[in-house]
Amino acid sequence: MAMEMLKGLGTTLKEFGKKPTTVSYPEEKRQLPPRFRGRHVLHRYENGLERCVGCFLCAGACPADAIYIEAEENTDEQRVSPGERYARVFDVNLLRCIFCGYCEQACPTGAITLENIYELASTHPEDLVYHKEQLLEPVGSATRGSIVDWTPTPPEATPTPLPGRQGYFDGLEASAAAVGQGDMPAEQAVFLGDDLSGMEHRRRLGEPEEGE
Ligand code: SF4
Ligand code: SF4
Repeated sequence: MAMEMLKGLGTTLKEFGKKPTTVSYPEEKRQLPPRFRGRHVLHRYENGLERCVGCFLCAGACPADAIYIEAEENTDEQRVSPGERYARVFDVNLLRCIFCGYCEQACPTGAITLENIYELASTHPEDLVYHKEQLLEPVGSATRGSIVDWTPTPPEATPTPLPGRQGYFDGLEASAAAVGQGDMPAEQAVFLGDDLSGMEHRRRLGEPEEGE
């Protein structure tokens, strides 16, 4: 018994005076690595246009089916992105997301990145479905995010609106039009709503609906 106490005391004395490995969170926060994959951010070009062209490639690449997009056509009167379309609705369900970063890698325009935003806890599941309004960086901000740490040559900035401009993924042309998916309808109805009933509905996808 006395031996064990001495051993314990020895360990305490050995560690005494060493710099602690813990931090006083939340007052103090750790510096995270640049490639840390936290919450998504949607980016803009320098000219204020949204990088997202509503191509659905990120949603298609997502293994967790966590991204829901509704795209709409740009018009000359209302141009939101340089492409033919923009994302009118862009939701990311962080309850499903596994933070793999495939969406960031699939995006031909560098519109979506995973950043070091990790304070995502909530007691309300609906709070963890992030909408475009929460994900999109504010007007006047045009950051590139973590893509510059992942990709040596990220998609370049577009100085002026250029409909049909193409991006590259893995050395291949990868605009929505190039892969022939520009007009592809969603494969199935997916509802990511703000309420729990929507989430229940989602869990039932694949099963026959009532009355079918
Ligand atoms: S990080 Fe992975 S799981 Fe999360 S939305 Fe992107 S592709 Fe889907
Ligand atoms: S892949 Fe990029 S451009 Fe296409 S819908 Fe997703 S975020 Fe938008």
